[in-house]
Amino acid sequence: MTNLEQSLNPTITAMAPDKLLNFQKTVRDIPGVLKLTFGEPGFDVDERIKAAATEAINNNRSHYAESQGEQSLRAEAVRYFNETYHLNYQDEDNVIVTLGVSEGINVVLHTLLAPGDGLLVPEPAYGPYFTSLALAYGQKIAIDTTAHRFKLTPEMVDEAVEKATVPVRAILMNYPTNPTGVTYSREEVMALAATFKKHHIWVISDEIYAVLTYDQAHVSFAEIIPEQTIYINGLSKSHAMTGYRVGFILASKQMILEMQKVHGALTFAIPTFIQDAAVVALRDVKDTPLLMRAAYKARRDRILPQLKALGFDVVTPEGAFYIFAKLPVDLGDDGDAFALNLAREGKVAVIPGSGFSESAKAFIRISYAASDEDLDEGMKRITAYVKRLRE
Ligand code: PLP
Repeated sequence: MTNLEQSLNPTITAMAPDKLLNFQKTVRDIPGVLKLTFGEPGFDVDERIKAAATEAINNNRSHYAESQGEQSLRAEAVRYFNETYHLNYQDEDNVIVTLGVSEGINVVLHTLLAPGDGLLVPEPAYGPYFTSLALAYGQKIAIDTTAHRFKLTPEMVDEAVEKATVPVRAILMNYPTNPTGVTYSREEVMALAATFKKHHIWVISDEIYAVLTYDQAHVSFAEIIPEQTIYINGLSKSHAMTGYRVGFILASKQMILEMQKVHGALTFAIPTFIQDAAVVALRDVKDTPLLMRAAYKARRDRILPQLKALGFDVVTPEGAFYIFAKLPVDLGDDGDAFALNLAREGKVAVIPGSGFSESAKAFIRISYAASDEDLDEGMKRITAYVKRLRE
């Protein structure tokens, strides 16, 4: 052990770096590589939102914001989420504005979990969750959904709770799901909600991709069991505002007061001029999410048949913008090696499945949040690379 390690928090030194971010760094400098890695919408921010941000800067909206979020933005957020997803939050005291959903996840986990408490995590799941959980000293109780086409069922939840050796505090839901694109119907959400109720566990519901649900209405846990739900959403995916860093937590007023203690310490507040721009996004920019949803669905349909033709096993994504594909049997089951070699030799970067679950080593995640030209070129390169492997 070096002196540096001796003087650091052992929880951090023992932690593996986040695989998702690490792999993106690995492929970044490969010359000529085409990236189908990012959860980056690939659209520019709407002109009205940009104008609101610059006007706010010019009007000196550059001082500390209210820590919980500017009252105007919190009011707009309650109106928007209530109207869009049939929720029933009362007013702006039900909201905290966070530095993206990323901060929101940390705020919620720190507020709910005592050290050693269990968190149910249906896997495959968004990799940074694992780091957030470790930072909160929580215990992951993974529920592997791979054998069930990536869908969580009430029976899986019952089994995980029964087998748990630590107190189970909460479940971390995310749908449409990163990395699989799976989502849940009203009946499925209701059945799961009944199970969560029975077990008295909190539902932390990361619904950041809600707007990108293709063929059915998105149904929120916050509609079905509001009393047990902590609802998280943000503007990164719905309004292509990834770099603005705007997230929201909605919950009971009492819960918000508790979480505000953590948020106040973690980031204090997000920039004031960004909050003004976020008001415009929620209030005025209604077309962007719909245009993006149609574009992503078309892009899914552009590449899915090609992947299937190559022998990849895929569950058709019903939302978000990722395809989680199992390697064709003749290409082995090492997604890490496949992704690395595909990047180095085939010049296309995708993310290895192991970043999302230990049991998803034979998978890769392809992001189709890319232009049609890049997707066509990417598929051409993947096809050529697979053909070479088979020669
Ligand atoms: N949650 C999920 C499931 C995600 O896929 C992402 C980004 O890819 C985030 C949270 C991060 O969101 P934000 O940009 O709001 O921090």
